[in-house]
Amino acid sequence: MFELRKPNVIPINDHIWLLDDNHEATCYVVAGTEYAAVIDTSIGLSNIREAAESLTSLPLICINTHGHGDHMGGNWSFDKAYMNLADLPLAEEHFHHPEVQKGIKQHGIHYPPFEHIEDGRVFDLGGVKLEAIYFPGHTAGEIVLLDRQDRILFAGDGIIQHLWLQLKESLPVRTQIQSMERLLPLRNIFDMILHGHNQTPNGIELFDTLLEALKDLEAGNTADDIDYEWNGNISKAHPYQPEDRRIVYKESGE
Ligand SMILES: [Zn+2]
Repeated sequence: MFELRKPNVIPINDHIWLLDDNHEATCYVVAGTEYAAVIDTSIGLSNIREAAESLTSLPLICINTHGHGDHMGGNWSFDKAYMNLADLPLAEEHFHHPEVQKGIKQHGIHYPPFEHIEDGRVFDLGGVKLEAIYFPGHTAGEIVLLDRQDRILFAGDGIIQHLWLQLKESLPVRTQIQSMERLLPLRNIFDMILHGHNQTPNGIELFDTLLEALKDLEAGNTADDIDYEWNGNISKAHPYQPEDRRIVYKESGE
C-alpha cells in the first residue's frame, strides 16, 4: 500500500470536523446520532474514511459536492458515494487520468458506484439533517448542503473566496447568480460557510460579497479585470473585496 497522508483535523463544534488535506482541498465530517456524513474526500492521497472513523463510530455516508477530482478523488475508500450525476462525466475524466489509472492498478483500489443526489434531497443523520440544494455554476452538478440546526452551509466549490467559472465545464456567470439567488430566501438560516478549500470557516459575508461581485461582473464593470492564465489559456479574473478574492471567468460566450 502506498504511503497515505493524514488530513489536519479541526473541530468546528462537538459533532462537525473540518479535514484540511495538505491545503489542497477540504472535507468535512458531520455526525448525527444515527449516521455521519463525509462531505467530499479530497484528491485521493489521504484515506478520508479512516480519518472519519477516528472521529466517529457511526456508519458513514459519503456525499460529493461535485465531480472534480480534487474533491471526489478519495472516494475509493468508500463502497458507495452520492453525487449529482450531471457531474459524472467529470468524475469519469478523473478516473481516466493516466496518474489515477496508474494508482488504481498499482494499489488495487476502485471507485464506488454513485447514487444520484436530486435537488432537495435530505440526508437525515439523526438530529442533524443535510439538505442538498442544486447549485450549478462552477460545474453543472454542483450541490451545496444546508445544515439548519448548526446554521452552516457546506458549499463545495460553489461559494468560495476564489471562484472559478473559467473551466470548460463551468456555466455562465448568469447561472451562478441564479444559483445564489435561489439561496437568498435561506440567507438568514446560516451564518457559516464551509467550502471545499477552507482552512478556517467563512462567515455569511462571503455570500454577500460574492453575489455583489457577480452582479458587478454581469453589469460589465470589468475595467479592473486582469488576465489569468489557466491551463495554457488566458481567462479573465475579476477582483473583489475584501481580501484577495477573484472570480475567474471565460472572456466570451457569457
Ligand atoms: Zn471544483
